[in-house]
Amino acid sequence: MFGPDFPFPYDDWLRHPAGLGSLPEASHGATVAVVGAGLAGMVAAYELMELGLRPVVYEAERIGGRLRSHEFEGADGIVAELGGMRFPVSGTSFFHYADVLGLASAPFPNPLTEAAGSTVIDIGGQTYHGRTLAELPAEFAEIARAWDEALEEIGFTALQDALRARDTGRLKQLWNELVPLWDGRTFYDFVSASAAFSKLPFRYRELFGLVGFGTGGWDSDFPNSMLEILRVVVTDCDTDQQLIVGGAEQLPRGLWTLPVSERSPWPAGTSLASLHGRVPRAGVAAIRRQHDGTFLVRDRWGTSRQHDAVLATCHSWLLTTQIDCDETLFSQDLWMALDRTRYMQSSKTFVMVDRPFWKDIDPATGRPVMGMTLTDRLTRGTYLFDNGPDRPAVICLSYSWMSDALKMLPYDVDTRVKLALDALGKIYPGVDVASHIVGDPVTVSWEDDPNFLGAFKGALPGHYRYNHRMYTHFMQDKMPPAERGIFLAGDDVSFTPAWAEGAVQTALNAVWGVMTHFGGASHRENPGPGDLFDTLAPIDLGD
Ligand SMILES: Cc1cc2nc3c(=O)[nH]c(=O)nc-3n(C[C@H](O)[C@H](O)[C@H](O)COP(=O)(O)OP(=O)(O)OC[C@H]3O[C@@H](n4cnc5c(N)ncnc54)[C@H](O)[C@@H]3O)c2cc1C
Repeated sequence: MFGPDFPFPYDDWLRHPAGLGSLPEASHGATVAVVGAGLAGMVAAYELMELGLRPVVYEAERIGGRLRSHEFEGADGIVAELGGMRFPVSGTSFFHYADVLGLASAPFPNPLTEAAGSTVIDIGGQTYHGRTLAELPAEFAEIARAWDEALEEIGFTALQDALRARDTGRLKQLWNELVPLWDGRTFYDFVSASAAFSKLPFRYRELFGLVGFGTGGWDSDFPNSMLEILRVVVTDCDTDQQLIVGGAEQLPRGLWTLPVSERSPWPAGTSLASLHGRVPRAGVAAIRRQHDGTFLVRDRWGTSRQHDAVLATCHSWLLTTQIDCDETLFSQDLWMALDRTRYMQSSKTFVMVDRPFWKDIDPATGRPVMGMTLTDRLTRGTYLFDNGPDRPAVICLSYSWMSDALKMLPYDVDTRVKLALDALGKIYPGVDVASHIVGDPVTVSWEDDPNFLGAFKGALPGHYRYNHRMYTHFMQDKMPPAERGIFLAGDDVSFTPAWAEGAVQTALNAVWGVMTHFGGASHRENPGPGDLFDTLAPIDLGD
């Protein structure tokens, strides 16, 4: 996920043998409160520890945050991914840490991929089966073509070529022309106004919204700013995705116990877990700025600790709801951006089943009895996870966003399972999914959780400036001294929300910001994001 807003090569920075930088000895051991033990918090805490600082991680709920792998009882490592579940290989910083931790990955069973085996599209009461696009009726190929043509109307190939070649000059030139043109317009506007889709019947737009390009279900994003969608496609977020075998939560958890490298000023064997007596501090209730430039952080049980800097990685809305923050922590412009950030809703419901029965061949049709399913019914997306013929399998009965997710909000897990099974029963009348269920189902509505209030950011038209303010906040040298020392990270701060890679990249920006805040610097031969900021900075649209 290189660029396009800030095309800094995070993967090169991470891989360089010189490391990310160094700090004056006097600042070794300075404490940085890290609010949130999700991926951004853990990446930042680990790298700050590597530099010799003392991160103090606070977590309100559970290590992992939105990388939450629910382990089914007694099933020996069989998990349901309640948050992030499919990781594009273009997320090279994410996979850097997965590799460091030795985590295995495998192709994610997305629609029309080999990993899915068979895909079923059910729309308007009609059901289509196929393993590839070529096996579906011709209108699906026409839609795929229309999407490619629509993208080409705004010069997509040239943009993607520049990105893949890491030609930052050309990339910035092309992207900076698109930002002011598309910040104010929706994804739906883009599709409906395109010459390619305008000549096709309305039904094609509906089908496109259902099937999308890669992962399906893109009509939930129709109201979002078109820039969000362009970033997804140009950086290949939506193609070639992997799952993490055994669950993505192993990433933040693995960083928690990973010992420092030989480069670190900390003694060999030091880890975040060892610095914390194995458990993070309780959730943060208040953040105050002190007269001497330090911060007082109070946890929910009333204990206050003084810190030399703060890094907030929780959803930005929590800074005005869950956490009592001094208004002076940020400028009013930044508060505006943090509060205007718009989070999307999302719900998922999973069951464990005795075996991957969906691979059984229906003698009447010669096809597998069930496939990865995209539908306009309540379930929207149904994903099938095969753990091998001799182990229980997992079905994500329903993965939905926005109003489809809100339909589920008031219901308990059993009702959600029944509603999903009813919907699937209409698509697969001869298949008794319920008879295969073993163990307890599990469900999540991220918007219903006070420690999240939503699933992930989905920027609306006109939100580029807000994003710009949050993203560039790690560059503090020109800020009034009274606003320095508190940093932000997380996928909602990034330009690629809903992708774990955005959490990693913004965590690395914050690491650079904190390092320079304490008088440190990157190595000359390995410049960091702030060192190259002036050349690569996201375009400023002004006020
Ligand atoms: C339904 C869903 C599907 C997704 N699918 C994908 C996907 O397929 N691929 C992908 O790459 N990404 C996906 N994502 C996004 C991915 O999960 C996130 O980008 C990533 O996990 C975000 O990490 P983070 O550290 O920025 O935030 P979080 O994981 O949200 O971490 C923030 C932490 O702050 C904690 N916190 C909150 N309040 C406080 C407080 N007062 N004090 C202390 N701690 C607090 C929270 O409990 C949380 O642990 C998905 C997310 C969701 C919700």
